[in-house]
Amino acid sequence: MDYYSRQISKLIQELSALPGIGTKSAQRLAFHILNMPEDQVKELSQAILDAKQNVRYCKECFTLTDEEVCPICKDSARNHKLIMVVENTRDLAAYEKTQKYDGVYHVLHGAISPMLGIGPGDIKLKELMQRLQQDVDEVIIATNSSLEGETTAMYISKLIKPTGIKVTRIASGVPVGGDLEYIDEVTLLRALEGRTEL
Ligand code: ZN
Repeated sequence: MDYYSRQISKLIQELSALPGIGTKSAQRLAFHILNMPEDQVKELSQAILDAKQNVRYCKECFTLTDEEVCPICKDSARNHKLIMVVENTRDLAAYEKTQKYDGVYHVLHGAISPMLGIGPGDIKLKELMQRLQQDVDEVIIATNSSLEGETTAMYISKLIKPTGIKVTRIASGVPVGGDLEYIDEVTLLRALEGRTEL
């Protein structure tokens, strides 16, 4: 990339380090940014910095938020005795988009994967079990239908069973290996409504 000046090359290099962005896209983005008004560029870089510096885990559900407790956990109109376990904040957002779920969430930040060396201690499982010491009616396991998601679901249900709390798994209307966030809202709702007790 020597045919660009050092700073342009650096910008392209940083952009191409992002997931799903190859060198060509990085070049396109870099020149787009260079053509943007300076105010807009400042706003973009400030938004990245602000998000990075202020976003943390909600102390109840562990979703990413810029407040101590996220707006969902803060909402007293929601059913706090119904907890849906998801792998990440994007999955939470997918269910929120349906506007039909009125419980709260628990975000694991990953799934158990013996192949990748990710064990139960590497995701927010301990934190889930701690939450279950409060009054909870049902835990809906909405991890992905991938091998890792199923392994995690099985592990969680075994962990919760002795507590006597009802554990359900979303129905498999969700394509196998499909990432929850790419599935349309109707399918998500069907999976939620068709959940079965484990
Ligand atoms: Zn929360």
